[in-house]
Amino acid sequence: MEKPFNAFEMAQKQFDAAAEKLGLDQATRDLLRNSLREYHFLIPVRMDDGSYKVFRGFRVQHSDARGPCKGGIRFHPHETVDTVRALAMWMTWKTAVVDIPLGGGKGGVICDPHNLSDREQEGICRGWVRQVAVNVGHEQDVPAPDVMTHGQHMLWMMDEFERIRGAKYPGFITGKPVGMGGSLGRTEATGFGVIYTVREAMKELGLDIKKSIGAFQGFGNVSQYAVKLFREYGGKPICVSCWDQTDQTSYTFRRESGVDPDELMSITDKYGTIDKAKARKAGYEILPGDAWIEQEADLLVPAALENQISGANVGKIHKRVRIIAEGANGPTTPEADAEIHKRGIFLIPDFLCNAGGVTCSYFEQVQCNMNYFWSREEVLSKLDEKMTAGFKAVSDLARKKNIYMRDAAYLIAVTRVAEASHKRGWV
Ligand code: GLU
Repeated sequence: MEKPFNAFEMAQKQFDAAAEKLGLDQATRDLLRNSLREYHFLIPVRMDDGSYKVFRGFRVQHSDARGPCKGGIRFHPHETVDTVRALAMWMTWKTAVVDIPLGGGKGGVICDPHNLSDREQEGICRGWVRQVAVNVGHEQDVPAPDVMTHGQHMLWMMDEFERIRGAKYPGFITGKPVGMGGSLGRTEATGFGVIYTVREAMKELGLDIKKSIGAFQGFGNVSQYAVKLFREYGGKPICVSCWDQTDQTSYTFRRESGVDPDELMSITDKYGTIDKAKARKAGYEILPGDAWIEQEADLLVPAALENQISGANVGKIHKRVRIIAEGANGPTTPEADAEIHKRGIFLIPDFLCNAGGVTCSYFEQVQCNMNYFWSREEVLSKLDEKMTAGFKAVSDLARKKNIYMRDAAYLIAVTRVAEASHKRGWV
């Protein structure tokens, strides 16, 4: 039987390869290939029907060598602690590669928000905070949204934290709604950040974005805004995909003349499912969920979940594809990665490509701490600057050393975190 995918094993393998190339000493390797601290806990919630249900929650702090841990909280029925560990580690490399003064962490709750009322979700959010309130906060570890969590969840969490601590702490958590400590631009930040790096990659490869075609996987927060900006830059997004809650499967929505994200958003329900009948009427073909990968496109953007491009489907990537921009965390398995490298496709690795979200989260914290909020233009221009600088640092190194973009990103990020750990005298 094939071994099930384990994101943490994959993250450790990637780290080990970078550590080997950098010749890191054993103690630094031991420190950085594992979580610094982990919290595993239970969250009892009174359900709407009066019964009680106990959920499992996690917070993993991978490294705080460069600053407080930072990273989102996922709600997912298939959440595992190993996935959270991997994602926490990737957050450390993410904050390091774009050079913001934060570390890496991640949280999760095993639950399916599709089957929970708002009140029940509020119970999970408040329960999560009660379990870790002394171990998180703006000086220790700053949570944010991730898969299936959003601004309202962050607000409930902030409120619970402030009740426990007895004062106002808007910098405790990011991704809050605008007007309640949130930053303008945060909603679009991850998706826009993906396309800032794509724009730079196209410049480097001599491709004209206006003549380019992009195929997107997913239609959540990242994909929606990536598609939007790609289109604003003149590119043609040919498809997106989404999970269909009723059919319990995913579909690809393709339109030869291009996908219109606003039109699709207007027919997407609160669970992220696009209405198939309405989409068909608007001229979309509805294909199987994995059809996005075989599109004749210049750009592929996996922006859904981890473990999406594997040995089983990497061979389906069309020969026209020049760039893969990893909007999701960990979408490519090591086996598929080796093949992509061999084919000479330009890869923008996840923790660089999708760093726009956390970079804007950092801006949100800065604004909260000052209690002075910037305009959307100011936020987005600072975001563009940071993402472009991060991209350039990685692509310069990749070119100079003639190495793969993922390896270059790892070398930069791991060096920064190892150096911080050394300078503090930890190892
Ligand atoms: N969950 C996002 C990520 O994976 C954002 C994290 C944050 O803003 O802290 O990068």
